[in-house]
Amino acid sequence: MDNNAPKKSGILQAYLNFNVLYKILIGLVIGAIAGVILAASGVTALPPWISMFGTIFTRLLKMIIIPIVVGSLVVGASSVSPANVGRVGIRVVIIYLLTSACGVIIGLIMANIFQPHAALEAVTEMAAEAAGKTADVSVWTVIAEIIPTSVLTSLVNETVLQVIFFSLVFGLCLSFMKVSDDERIRTISTTMYNVFDCLAEIMMKIVRGIMQYAPIGVAVLICEVFAKNGAKVAGALLTVTIACFLGYAIHIVLIYGGLLKIFKIKIGTFFKEARTPFITAFVTRSSNGTLPTTMTAAENLGVEKEVYAFSLPLGATINMDGTAIYQGVCAFFLVMSCFGRGLTMGEMGMIVLLATLASIGTAGVPGAGAIMLAMVMQGIGLPIEEASVLAGAYAMILGIDAILDMGRTALNVTGDLTCTCCIAKRLGFLRDDSPLR
Ligand code: ASP
Repeated sequence: MDNNAPKKSGILQAYLNFNVLYKILIGLVIGAIAGVILAASGVTALPPWISMFGTIFTRLLKMIIIPIVVGSLVVGASSVSPANVGRVGIRVVIIYLLTSACGVIIGLIMANIFQPHAALEAVTEMAAEAAGKTADVSVWTVIAEIIPTSVLTSLVNETVLQVIFFSLVFGLCLSFMKVSDDERIRTISTTMYNVFDCLAEIMMKIVRGIMQYAPIGVAVLICEVFAKNGAKVAGALLTVTIACFLGYAIHIVLIYGGLLKIFKIKIGTFFKEARTPFITAFVTRSSNGTLPTTMTAAENLGVEKEVYAFSLPLGATINMDGTAIYQGVCAFFLVMSCFGRGLTMGEMGMIVLLATLASIGTAGVPGAGAIMLAMVMQGIGLPIEEASVLAGAYAMILGIDAILDMGRTALNVTGDLTCTCCIAKRLGFLRDDSPLR
């Protein structure tokens, strides 16, 4: 919000001031109740002038996917300063990516066990349509095709993986150029970085604007889902929530517990300090917002500042294990609800790849993971089209995003701290007075 803007009062201002995630939750509830009432009175479709509000929301989301991926990935990749990509940097980035990949796998396992789905109407038509879209492609072709032959074509056709690849290469080159010995290169690359930084900021501002509209869009989309399917879909959302939270818990025990054990870090001492950032992230739903608390925890755990001052801000930007788990569960939910089938092996492989990369592009702010979910769906060839059943199912997920986001953000920051401590211990960056020694 513009701080210099004159203070306004009235209904609009009260609406804007109210927490957006609660507004979306309220939108979900109102939409669901309206849908159930409509279904009970035999109305299964909304008049076009009302469904238009749902369509507008879906179109707004699609509008921002590519620019947000480009902006945040270029900025994310170029914020890994080459000066730090020595011994520590490379290891930190690798451990971040590996734990995120484990997160998606855990999410997919949870999804396959719980099979969360809403058995939405129109499943059969869409299943037939989807059968054509998911013809098995060899994994080698997928890998080769990550490299675009024309960047402009990839952007225009919204080929997400190719756009991600190019943005990462672009961002990495930029990070090296920013610290070049040649002053000219330094100046122009800093200008270019500022352009992309600005693009990323603009996109975040647009996202915030779209999120203000989201409660209305979600209410209409959910109303359509409930009018067509009745109240039976509510239980599905509970299953999604349980699958996500169980996934988060398993990740903490298996992955973080395992890493701490392997790196011989006292688990009790670690979690005593990790508790504060964990709770802060849970309530703020923002890894970036939690950063000061995470840094204090690292300081208390005796990690040298030169390591955590680099690894924690980087982690808040690129390491999102909770978000990765959420992507796995929700992608399954969307496919199963709309197409009446689970994920193919190819799709699961693709989701692991996409969600791991998406975690780099997910900003550490509330709700960012939900936008990236739309990107992951686009990447597996099942884009969230306007007025589709998929858009309705996606709106269901958005309706409970506040709850899912609490858990995933708490996990995201715990992951940053775990990886930082492990690398610090292994490479001898713990202070003499560190309780982890
Ligand atoms: N809220 C998360 C975070 O700040 C990102 C997300 O929405 O997944 O880490």
